[in-house]
Amino acid sequence: MLEVLRNDLFECAAEESKLSGFYVLRKCQPLIPGFLPQVIVYENSGTIINPETPAVINSELFRAIEDGDIASISPNGKIRVILSRRANHNTLLLTERCDNRCQFCSQPPKDGDDSWLLEQAILAICAFNLDGEIGLSGGEPLLYRDDFIRLLDTTIEHAPRTRLHVLTNGRAFADLSFTKSVAKRTEHITMSFGIPLYAANSTIHDKLVGAEGAFNETVKGIINAGNSGINIELRFIPTRQNAQELPFVAEYANRVFTNINQISVMNMEPMGWARKNWDGLYLHPLEYPLLLENAAKISRQNSTPLYLFNYPLCHLPEHLHELSVQSISDWKNYYPKECSSCSMKNQCGGFFASAKGKFLQSPQRYV
Ligand code: SF4
Repeated sequence: MLEVLRNDLFECAAEESKLSGFYVLRKCQPLIPGFLPQVIVYENSGTIINPETPAVINSELFRAIEDGDIASISPNGKIRVILSRRANHNTLLLTERCDNRCQFCSQPPKDGDDSWLLEQAILAICAFNLDGEIGLSGGEPLLYRDDFIRLLDTTIEHAPRTRLHVLTNGRAFADLSFTKSVAKRTEHITMSFGIPLYAANSTIHDKLVGAEGAFNETVKGIINAGNSGINIELRFIPTRQNAQELPFVAEYANRVFTNINQISVMNMEPMGWARKNWDGLYLHPLEYPLLLENAAKISRQNSTPLYLFNYPLCHLPEHLHELSVQSISDWKNYYPKECSSCSMKNQCGGFFASAKGKFLQSPQRYV
C-alpha cells in the first residue's frame, strides 16, 4: 500500500460491516444520541466495555482517530474516516453531479439523484461540530440550491463555530437572488468560496470546462458574489491550453471583481479525467515560471495574495518558493523515496499519491 501521511481507509469484519452508513466514532461510552448513530471503536476484543452498543474492533483505526470523528461504513466492509480532528483538511462531498465537464476533473461527475449525500453532510457537520474549517466539494455543491441554504442554516444553528470553504464553479451565483440568500448567511457563519476561472475569455474557459456559456455565468457569478460581500478565493489550474492566460486572470481579479481574498494557482492532480487527458494538458511548472512571476507581480501590485498549491518545491524556481503552500490533504499526500534525504522535505508539499507511477514528475532532491 502507498505510504500517505494519514491513512483514512480501514477494513472491518463481516459482522461489523452490517453497520452501513455514516457514524460518529466513539472511543468511550457513547453520549446521548445526536445527529448520527454512534459506534464504539475498540483496540481489541479484550477492551469491550459495552457489548450492547454497535462496535468495531480494529487497533489501527483505534489509533488513527479521536473520539467524535465521523466515518462512513460501506456494505463491503470499508470504513472511511471522512471528518477527522487530526486531518490537515476535512472535506465533505455534497453531490457527484455537475453542470461543467472539466477536462482535468479529478472526480468525474455522475448523473442521477444523489441528494442523500447533502443530507448526510448536514448531519455530519452538526455531529462533528468542529471549531475549524470544513471544505464542501462536489460535483457542483451549489446545484441543490435550496438544500444548500438549508445546510447553511442548520450549520448556523448547530455548529456555529464551523467555518465552511466551498469549492464551486460559481455558475449558481449568476442567480442574484440565490447569491443574496447565501450572502445573508455570511452574517452568522464564516464562509468562503473557491471559484476557478481558467481564462479571461470564454473560448478557452468554456473548452476546458466542457460547457458552452460557463464563462459568462462564472464571471457574472463572481461579480454578484463579490458585490454581495461573499469572500472569494479565485482558482486557476495552468495547462497547455491556458497557462498563458494566468496573468490576464490575475488582472481580471483586480480590475473586474471585488472581494477576491486570494488567488490560488493549482498544480494539476493526476486523478479522474486529468489522467485520461494528461498528455494534452499537463505542463511542467519549469515551463512557465515567467507566467507565475507576472501573475504574482500583478497580484502584489493590487495587494491580493497569490499562492501556489500542490507544487513540489523542486519543480519551482527558488525565488517562487515563498509562494508555495503545503496544500495536499494528508490522506492523499506522499513523498517518493528520493525525498527522504532532501533537505527541503519539511517545507515541501510533496506529491499527490495518485502521481505514483507514470504520472510522477521526477523529484530533484536538494542536498
Ligand atoms: S525532492 Fe521531494 S522533498 Fe525535495 S523538494 Fe522535491 S518533492 Fe520536495
